[in-house]
Amino acid sequence: MTAERVDAVVVGAGVVGLAVARALAQAGREVLVLEREAAIGTGTSSRNSEVIHAGIYYPAGSLKARLCVQGKRALYAYAAERGIAHRRCGKLIVANTPSQLAGLPGIVAGAVANGVDDLEMLSRDAAREREPALECLGAVLSPSTGIVDSHALMLSLQGDLEADGGMVVCYSGVREIERQGDAWLIVSEDGTPLLARTLVNSAGLHACELAGRIAALPAGSVPTPRYAKGSYFTLAGRSPFQRLIYPAPEPDQHLAGLGVHLTVDLGGQAKFGPDVQWVDRADDLVVDPARGEGFYAAVRRYWPALPDGALQPGYAGLRPKISGPGKPAADFLIQGPAQHGLPGLVNLFGIESPGLTSCLAIGERVREMLAG
Ligand SMILES: Cc1cc2nc3c(=O)[nH]c(=O)nc-3n(C[C@H](O)[C@H](O)[C@H](O)COP(=O)(O)OP(=O)(O)OC[C@H]3O[C@@H](n4cnc5c(N)ncnc54)[C@H](O)[C@@H]3O)c2cc1C
Repeated sequence: MTAERVDAVVVGAGVVGLAVARALAQAGREVLVLEREAAIGTGTSSRNSEVIHAGIYYPAGSLKARLCVQGKRALYAYAAERGIAHRRCGKLIVANTPSQLAGLPGIVAGAVANGVDDLEMLSRDAAREREPALECLGAVLSPSTGIVDSHALMLSLQGDLEADGGMVVCYSGVREIERQGDAWLIVSEDGTPLLARTLVNSAGLHACELAGRIAALPAGSVPTPRYAKGSYFTLAGRSPFQRLIYPAPEPDQHLAGLGVHLTVDLGGQAKFGPDVQWVDRADDLVVDPARGEGFYAAVRRYWPALPDGALQPGYAGLRPKISGPGKPAADFLIQGPAQHGLPGLVNLFGIESPGLTSCLAIGERVREMLAG
């Protein structure tokens, strides 16, 4: 079969792949997004908390810190311009132990180092004035944290891509990638070949596995994928809180997540999670009802009035990790020609939280890496 030639291919139509494709199309590139599933955004992008993160916890200077803060600004502006449902509801990071309380000033200082200078320390009384159902020793208020309708966001990104001549092709799983002359030969699961000058691997949970099949990549450049499942339990009835509520991390603890927190979606549905459960498979998405017990204990530290029987198993998402249990969370790993030496190829590894918040900034970064 003769291979069709396109300018740029993005593998994966999650929020990040779509944002990258949009950025390339806006720069005048001809872009095709190849998606294995029947629709856009059925992977991790539809199994998260839909929180617009402020950029608080990530190490200063890391890609997570920089792209989250840039991405947050860009996302609020984009959502407002396009009428994408979102709310800057704010969040409280709450301390319920003396060591968590002692760690709050460090959280504020870390945020300042990331350019997030609007955090406010609250006493127990000041926190409870804002959220009367809350129990805590003290808290930090993050006013710029919010929530967004992630599906409306992805539809809008797809619309922008199409307005600039790009296209998403579903049922197009990519099986093989190899260097052929001055281009990348991309072979779909049904055997269809395509040649592209530029290739962006934004396959989320499968990005490492896909890159592992690119023989031309230097040995050791593809990290080992790890999967940390996060389960959610939904709350029957109205949310007792206006803001998002996150437990403060214990100092020096290497958490794979941000603790069992409360988020509210734009329909007013409150949910708790995600917890952390290391799993072996990239398709292990069943919520074990037995985990509910741990949720009651975790939530009652900051909301003692949680009634028995109020939590129902919700859904689960898998964090596409590139560091293992007990290790500090790895940074986003965005490898372009300057890193691996191969022209026209960008691999996106470990795009866990805050990947949704950062999507527009990641799109810009990939566009810059491929410019020229
Ligand atoms: C539990 C949880 C909570 C989170 N909460 C937040 C949050 O509140 N805020 C935030 O900013 N971030 C959050 N995140 C992170 C955020 O959801 C992700 O960073 C983001 O969705 C990643 O998008 P993506 O496009 O990289 O991946 P995905 O959405 O997984 O998209 C990858 C796509 O690639 C496709 N694909 C895979 N292999 C192939 C192939 N071979 N060929 C073709 N297509 C392929 C898949 O079908 C999929 O559609 C959370 C993540 C988890 C797991």
